[in-house]
This record gives sequence, C-alpha cells and structure tokens, in this order.
Amino acid sequence: MIDILINNLLLAQESIELVAPKNANQFVQVGYLVAIVLFISGIKGLTHPRTAVRGNQLGALGMLVAVLVTLYATEVSPIVWLAGMIVGTAGGVWLARTVQMTQMPQLVALFNGFGGIASVLVAGAEVLRGTGESTNIAVAGFAAGLTGLIGSVTFTGSLVAAAKLQELPQFKKPFSIGGQKIINALLLAIGLLLALELCDGTAWEYFPLVLLALVLGVFLVTPIGGADMPVVIALLNSYSGLAAAAAGFVISNNVLIVAGALVGASGLILTNIMCKAMNRSLTNVLFGKFEVTTSAADADEVYAGKIKSTSADEVAMLLDGVQRVVVVPGYGLAVAQAQHVVREMANLLEAEGVTVEYAIHPVAGRMPGHMNVLLAEADVPYDQLKEMDEINPTFSQCDVAIVIGANDVVNPVANTDPTSPIAGMPILNVHEARTVVMIKRSLSPGFAGIPNPLFAADNCLMLFGDGKKVLMELVAALKEN
Ligand code: NDP
Repeated sequence: MIDILINNLLLAQESIELVAPKNANQFVQVGYLVAIVLFISGIKGLTHPRTAVRGNQLGALGMLVAVLVTLYATEVSPIVWLAGMIVGTAGGVWLARTVQMTQMPQLVALFNGFGGIASVLVAGAEVLRGTGESTNIAVAGFAAGLTGLIGSVTFTGSLVAAAKLQELPQFKKPFSIGGQKIINALLLAIGLLLALELCDGTAWEYFPLVLLALVLGVFLVTPIGGADMPVVIALLNSYSGLAAAAAGFVISNNVLIVAGALVGASGLILTNIMCKAMNRSLTNVLFGKFEVTTSAADADEVYAGKIKSTSADEVAMLLDGVQRVVVVPGYGLAVAQAQHVVREMANLLEAEGVTVEYAIHPVAGRMPGHMNVLLAEADVPYDQLKEMDEINPTFSQCDVAIVIGANDVVNPVANTDPTSPIAGMPILNVHEARTVVMIKRSLSPGFAGIPNPLFAADNCLMLFGDGKKVLMELVAALKEN
C-alpha cells in the first residue's frame, strides 16, 4: 500500500520539477514528521487483519499530508499540481474499481514497477539539473546511480513478473540464455561502476546505466519459474522501496527516504517469509533459478483409471453427521468468487454442530495474503483461519477436507519428488484427512503446471465444476438434508 503512495509522492515531486524543500521552513518539517508517524502507525496497523483497514487509511492520510506539504514547499502554480492530483486520483480510483480480484497480483506487480520507474525519472531529472546543487555531490551522484540501477531493474522485472502472473504464453515458461548468470553479474558490475562514476557530478553515465539495468531486470526475472513468483513479487516490492529511498537522498527529501526504507525493509521481511513458505533460498531467487526441472510425471500416467468423480448431493450426504471439516481455499476460489457461498456452506454446517476451519497456505492464490483478503470479504471469523503450521498436524483428525480451487499448495509431490518444480515447498497435508473433496473444473494443473497425485488417491473425491456453481448446489443439497 505504502509503495503505491510513494509513487504518488514521486510523481508529485517530478511534476513540480523536483523543487526539493531544501530550505523548507519549520511547517514543512513538522508536516513531514506527521507523515512519517502516520506511515509507521499505518504499517503497525497492517500487522493484524482487525486493524488493517485503519492502518491502510492512516498510511493514505500520511501520504496525502506528505504530498500536500511537498507541493506547498514549491513555487509551482497550484493549477499544475491540482491537475496532477486529479488525474492521478482518477486513475487510481478507476483501477481500484475495475480490477478483478484475480488480477490484483498483476496490479501489485505493475505498481512496484511504476514505483521503480518514477524513482528513475526523478533521479534522472535531478542528474540533468546537475546534482551540483546538492550539498554533497558525491552522495547525491552515487544515490542517483543506485536509483537508476534499482529502479530500472524493478521496472522491467515487474513488467515481466506481471506478464508471468497474467500467464501470457511468451512469459509463462522460465527462459534463460547460455551464460546468463555471468552476463547478469557483468551487467551488475558495470552498473555499479557507472554509479560510482556519477559521484563527480557528471550526468552522461546515468543513461547507459539505466539502459543496462532495464535489460538486467528482464534477465533476472525471465528465468524464474511460476512457482517462485511470490518471492519475486515480494523482492521487487522491496526494490521499489529501496529505489525510492535512494531517490530521497538524491533530492534531499527525508520523507521519501523514510517511506522508501519502510517499503524496502517490509518487502525484505515479506521476501524472507515467502522464501520460507516456498522453501527457496534468497540467493537462489536473487540470481534466478536456472536449473529448470521438467521431470514432472505425465498426467495420464498419474490419473488413468484412478479418478473418482462425485456430485453435490453425495457430498451433502457425506457431510451429514461429521464433526470437523477443513476448507482449503486456493486460487480457483478467487476465480470463481465463491467466498460468500463458502461462508454460507460453513454456516449451515456449524448450525449442525460441525467445527469448520480454514487452512491458509502462505502462497495460496496469486499474492501474499490473497486468501485472507477473500475470506475477510465474506466476513469469515479470523479465528477460524488457521495457518499451515498450526493446521497440518491436525489433518488426520479431519473428517472431510474440502479443497476449493487449490492445487499446488496441496500437491504431495512437493514432499516425494525432488525433481519437481515445487520440490521442498511445504504443503497443506490434506491427503491425511479421512476424505478429501476436491472442487475444480477439470484435471488441469495449477500454476506450477504439474499433475497432482492427490486427485488419484483412494480418499479423494473429485467434484468437478466452477467453484461457485458447485458450492451453490452443495448448499442447496445441505438445506434439503
Ligand atoms: P493453483 O494455481 O495451484 O491451482 C488453482 C486451481 O484452481 C487450478 O488447478 C484450477 O483448476 C482451479 N480453478 C480455476 N478456476 C476455477 C473455478 N472457477 N472454479 C474452481 N476451480 C478453479 O492454486 P494454489 O492456490 O493451490 O497455488 C498457488 C500457486 O500460485 C502456487 O504455485 C504458487 O507458487 C503460485 N503463486 C502464488 C503467489 C502468491 O503470492 N500467493 C504469487 C504467484 C504465484 P481447473 O482449471 O481444473 O478448474
């Protein structure tokens, strides 16, 4: 959220020709302090679902204060910045209203990218104006170099990540050229050298540096497989913050430094959490995952003659008299927009004395926290959402696990096949439940593109169909029972 707001601040700075508040009066400094306190309180609020909405509002308020104070400190005509704010706000409202829940991850990736390129433009404009105006040319020059480097990598890297999340055929498969690790290392080294060259206040190095970093961003993300995307998104988020913080040093803007550092640090923490959830090392992600494993078993081999299809009526009968049901939501739940009908089903079961819980895998869906957001929309009580580590030891005491549009996050191959693209990824152990009901439209694979032997397991029943439609049938059948 804060990174989206930083983009606004960066663009505001840029549209006013980067008149940094170097001689800002006390009012401006106090305004920035208020904004910083609001950012930190906002982030604190985001640490818990109950306080998240308030946290979001505080962060947005902080950014409004920061933008207004920045504009106040400049001599640009109010008409210019008012026009900028109206256009920016209208664009933001339009995007927020029209984007589908399933497209949110791509949108987040694009926001990261916009943040990166906004920092690049700010630093570029300052370099052209001559960092000579800065009190410390060497620091401002090097900071501009780092901004160009990190911001450009963030921009093209995020575009590629968005294309992968959109599942564009040209980008879906990991792709790398021979010796790419070495080329990446060379590009990075040249980029850092050019950044050092900027320390003397000259400008020309900035542009080859940006060009080179734009290429590096593409090279860094194209080899990374779909299954690693959560880590990449978190990392790019962090990069966008670091680029903004570096831009803050270029234009001597404290609020940009603090806000950028907050995004950079929180993005790194998220990256670490996602790395653990995916069982990938950060080094592996940073330098791209080149060893693409493609030894996934053939789907026909896995499923032939072993799939048991069921109906909503049969599942309703199965649920009659059970004690504990665990719902496992996945990306398909977001596609089907089935969150409200899931809640309706849970209400019916709870009215019969059944304990209903939700198993949340950290990378279920297409962005961190995707399932929490969906279920919160349907007012599912937070205390029924169980994290993977908490729920996994209890699946053996679960009568029925209802998996709705989840696939990779329940694929036991992660534990059994070391050559699988999801090898080592911790999964939800739904296969240990007495019965598994798998709701999806077909036997198609999930994001990682591999078959799931769970579908063919003795205790698994496939309930084929669109998640929402099938659940509505199930709710009707439960009401009849
Ligand atoms: P998956 O992508 O593994 O599987 C989703 C399943 O949903 C598909 O198999 C699909 O099957 C089914 N589905 C799609 N539409 C519907 C519908 N309308 N009704 C019912 N089912 C539907 O999702 P998971 O949540 O299990 O796993 C997430 C994957 O995404 C992981 O590989 C993860 O690494 C990756 N990822 C996660 C990110 C994150 O931050 N959380 C970011 C980027 C990627 P069918 O077509 O047969 O219906």
